[in-house]
Amino acid sequence: MKLTVLGCSGSLPGPDSPASGYLVEEDEYRLVLDLGHGALGTLQRHVAPHDVDAILLSHLHGDHCIDLTAYVNALRYGPRKREGRIPVIGPSGTRDRIETAYDPLARKLGLRELFEFSTPRSGELGPFAVSVAAVNHPVPAYAISVSAGDRTLVYSGDTGESDALVSLAHGADVLLCEATFAPDDPYVPDLHMTGKQAGEHAARAGVDRLIVTHVPPWNSREVAVAEAAAAFSGSVEAAQPGAVYSI
Ligand SMILES: [Zn+2]
Ligand SMILES: [Zn+2]
Repeated sequence: MKLTVLGCSGSLPGPDSPASGYLVEEDEYRLVLDLGHGALGTLQRHVAPHDVDAILLSHLHGDHCIDLTAYVNALRYGPRKREGRIPVIGPSGTRDRIETAYDPLARKLGLRELFEFSTPRSGELGPFAVSVAAVNHPVPAYAISVSAGDRTLVYSGDTGESDALVSLAHGADVLLCEATFAPDDPYVPDLHMTGKQAGEHAARAGVDRLIVTHVPPWNSREVAVAEAAAAFSGSVEAAQPGAVYSI
């Protein structure tokens, strides 16, 4: 399984990275996890939008889904036409969220000819076994587990501390975990985590490797890694835009 970081800047795009977006590939199947501000741009370095097999959204905050509005233009006005719709799997309300953000005046026509909307559930998606767990964020949000063969990647999406995330990530090879808050940020429950909390979740889940992500432009990835490493004895690093991981 190959993981490519399309964007990893937390809450908004930063000077060196789009907002959240990840490409997960196995056997030429291309799964996109989240597509925040700017992530459609970097996606095109790796795959044409027409050739993506499925898009899975952790939640409907703009920094995780808003580039689906630009995706419409790629599919409608690009030179190539796609056979069939792209499955877009997201929380209840995804279709309305994306259609409204794309163009409130065009909602009547909808986007159903381009996207096949559904809600997340555990099951097979191409070569992947996918499981989801509801996590703790101000809107409905999911952590996502993607397995191929005996390899497993778990992505936290956005969440505060979450026992469900620990359960979902139990024994995973890689936990891609948000670490939005700096140590001295005011603590807000059920919103985001610190690097230390990401490390604690990785330790409790017994994963092999932790990649912290979703650090906003005003915080430091290095601090998030240092904090996480103090709480987790396995490999820790920060997601970097464009990084490719073999899992
Ligand atoms: Zn976010
Ligand atoms: Zn969010």
